[in-house]
Formats: sequence, C-alpha cells, structure tokens
Amino acid sequence: MSKEASQRVLRLLPAVDEVLRDDRIADLLTGYPRGIVIEAIRAALAGERRLILGGEPANRDLNEQYFLDLIITKTIAVVEQSLSVKLRPVINATGVVLHTNLGRALLSERARHAVNNIASSYSNLELELETGRRGSRYAPLEYLLTSLTGAEAALVVNNNAAAVLLVLSSLAQGREVIVSRGQLVEIGGSFRIPEVMVQSGARLVEVGATNKTYPDDYKKLINENTALLLHVHTSNYQIIGFTRETTISELVDVGRTFSLPVMSDLGSGSLIDLSRFGLPREPSVQEIVAAGADVVTFSGDKLLGGPQAGIVVGRRHYIERMKKHPLLRAIRVDKMTVAALEATLREYLDEQRAVQELPVLQMLTAPISLLEEKAADLAVQLRRLSGAKAEVAVEQGVSAVGGGAFPAAELTTVVVTIAPGRISAGDLQAALRQGDPAVMSRVQGGRLILDVRTVCDQEIPELAAAVGKVI
Ligand SMILES: *Cc1c(COP(=O)(O)O)cnc(C)c1O
Repeated sequence: MSKEASQRVLRLLPAVDEVLRDDRIADLLTGYPRGIVIEAIRAALAGERRLILGGEPANRDLNEQYFLDLIITKTIAVVEQSLSVKLRPVINATGVVLHTNLGRALLSERARHAVNNIASSYSNLELELETGRRGSRYAPLEYLLTSLTGAEAALVVNNNAAAVLLVLSSLAQGREVIVSRGQLVEIGGSFRIPEVMVQSGARLVEVGATNKTYPDDYKKLINENTALLLHVHTSNYQIIGFTRETTISELVDVGRTFSLPVMSDLGSGSLIDLSRFGLPREPSVQEIVAAGADVVTFSGDKLLGGPQAGIVVGRRHYIERMKKHPLLRAIRVDKMTVAALEATLREYLDEQRAVQELPVLQMLTAPISLLEEKAADLAVQLRRLSGAKAEVAVEQGVSAVGGGAFPAAELTTVVVTIAPGRISAGDLQAALRQGDPAVMSRVQGGRLILDVRTVCDQEIPELAAAVGKVI
C-alpha cells in the first residue's frame, strides 16, 4: 500500500469518543471500570494504526463501520480477558503428586470444610474461651504436633523457607552454622541454603566434601563461635556412588559432646513411614526427633498433605526463643492455614485414616488395580468422544512424587495415551493447557500421556470432554 493509501485508511479509524458512544461499549462499561475500557480502546487503535502503516490491510474494501466494529470487538475481548479470574482449577494429568507449579497438596475434605468454616465466621483464633484471655494461634497446632512427633514444643509459620530463616535468625545470628558441602541445597524458586544463611545473619561454614562428610569433619571446625550444626535433607537430588553422609544420630552425638544444638531441615517431612506402600524408606519426623535432633523443620504442603506452612518442632527452650523473635510476626500463619493444618494433623491421630483421607497419601499409595480402573474409564470416554480422530490406549507408566520428595522414586502407574491424527501431540498439549478447564499433561514419543494417578474421579468426564473439544 502506498503512503497516501495508508493515510487514507488511517482516517477511517474511529476516535476514542466515538467508540465510547457505541451501545456495545456502553454495555461493557456496566461491568468494567471506565479507565480500563478506555485503555483497551486506545491499545486496539494503536495496534490497528501500526498494521495499517506496516502495509496492511491490502486490497480490501474498507469503510468506517468495518473499523468501528473491529475496534469494539478487540476492546471487548481484551477487557474480558484481562479481568477474567486468573487463578483457577487445573486438572493435573502429569502424575506428579506434589507439583509446586500446580499448588502442591490438595486438602482433605475435613481441611476444606474447616477453611470454609473459619473463613465465614469470627473465631477464637487468639482467644482462650475458658478464661476469656488472649490466646495463641499456635496453641491448637502445638498440641497436635507435639503429640504426633514426640517433640517438646512446636511452632508453625508461613512456609518451610520461613521456618529455616526463623530458626537460623533465632539461634545463630552473628555466629557460625556448620553444614556439609553435600547438603547446600537449592529448592526451586530461589531458596538456597547459603543465601538463606546470609539473610539470617548467620555465617555458613562448609564442611567435608560433596560426596563425603564424616563426624570428625564437623568436630574439627567447631569453635567458640559455632552456634548450630545443620543437617539438610537433600530433597530434590541424590548423591550416589562413593558417598558417606553423617547421619542425624552421629551429628547429635557431636552436638552433645560440644553442647551445640542440631537442626534438621527435612523439607518434605512425613509423619508416616511410606515404605510400606513401596516408596523408599525415609525417616519420619518422629524418628528424627527421637534420634535427638533439637530442631526439625518441614513443609505443610509436601508429604504432610496440608496447606502451605512451615513447621518447626523441637526442644522447648529453642522454640521459645523463636516465639519471641520479631521475625515471627512477619511470617505468621493466617487463620485459614491454622484451620486447614489443624484438620490435616487431626487425620494423623489415626494413621489408617490419614492414608484414606489425605489426597496426597491416597494418590501416592493408590493400588495399581484402582489406577487401571480409572484409566479404563477415561479411555472409554475418550474413544467415544474422539471417534476415529485419535488412537487411544491404556499402558503402564511411571509417575513422580514431586515437591522435592523421593527424587529417585518411580511409582508404577497407569496412563492413557493419545496419538492424535489431525494435530500434533504438542499442539494438543498446548490446547489442553489453555482450555477451560485447563489440563496439564505430558508428551512422549509423539503421543499425549495422561497419568490418572493425580486425576480425581469427578474430573474424569471433564478431562475426556476437554480432550474431545480440541482433538
Ligand atoms: C521444600 C524445601 C524447603 C522449602 O520449603 P517451602 O515450604 O517450599 O518453603 C526447604 N528445605 C528443604 C530441604 C525442602 O525440601
């Protein structure tokens, strides 16, 4: 298009005021703020101007009405999209049970009910009903946590990263903390032990080699400035081969000899031994406490299967120092977390019930026969909806635990595979991700893989319909 032609087309664009006067925009203004609508109109006009100056649209019989309609359609789409609810449910067909990007643990029915209850009315969050005096929001959780873990005292904060920061700040500020070189962990999202150490004002002293650290290595570095011996669970990686880790019990012996506290950051602490269900043997929180660790920290929303929280259990005099630390107020848990965590912990009063009621444990311990049934059900619905447009099969596969727990564990699972005829598996995956409901899946060898381990029964028809829509 020539320059003059472009200028002629530009003159066909409506003014902002003219767009605002249109009935369709007046309708839009009843539901959305005027400032946002005007901004969207301006953006739509600017976009169109750029296209025209760039030579588009060529050879079309254009008029003012065409551009008015175009700008209005674009404005409505942009406003509705930008103000649609952004945080929404996703169907997790990846098989990764503790998927940090997908919100980690699903809450049990009782925990969901408790959140709803406490969110909808006033509560005794910080009130002792017996005496009428001010109470502690941590008290109900502390009672449950000490009963369940055997620790003397407990405290709960916003997440485990905050728990680690609080412990280090309270017990080691301005002093030295000894950590093995094999345990300088980075958890996704910029949580790194050396950096948290800097934040807390404690000084990191590295000990041993990446693959081997002996109790004597710690002993050699202890001096009058040492405040704490820290053991970090290498949650999301494994060092295999020629290795030697100083165990918690050995570290506790060193700590006792030198009168130093020992801290264990468990990350994904579990209250039950999951090796009964075929997962690798990992010491439970109770075992770490029994081994003599003075302070243990772990997450609420990893293997525990509760809300996002950081749990600290340990000796009373250390926990008391944390309760008095000014940082605690900045990282305290809100009432919905307290409600969800109390309900989650109560499930553990009966181990059998915990496995039955907590979605994380249900998914991790699901028997193959149950997964086969679910996959068969999904496959039948998928075949009905996709007809000849895709090849649907049921196969064995492998799921991951996720959330930095059991990094090397491979859980045998049952997957439904889809070989789409018309589009590529990658395109199908992207379309499902952007659909409503959004679906997260895997692609392998040109096929879409749906792992039913992390798909709830009620989601099966929705999942089948979502695939049917885009295939
Ligand atoms: C996950 C993890 C953390 C961080 O816990 P969040 O609850 O995600 O803050 C800290 N340390 C270890 C060893 C972990 O695995």
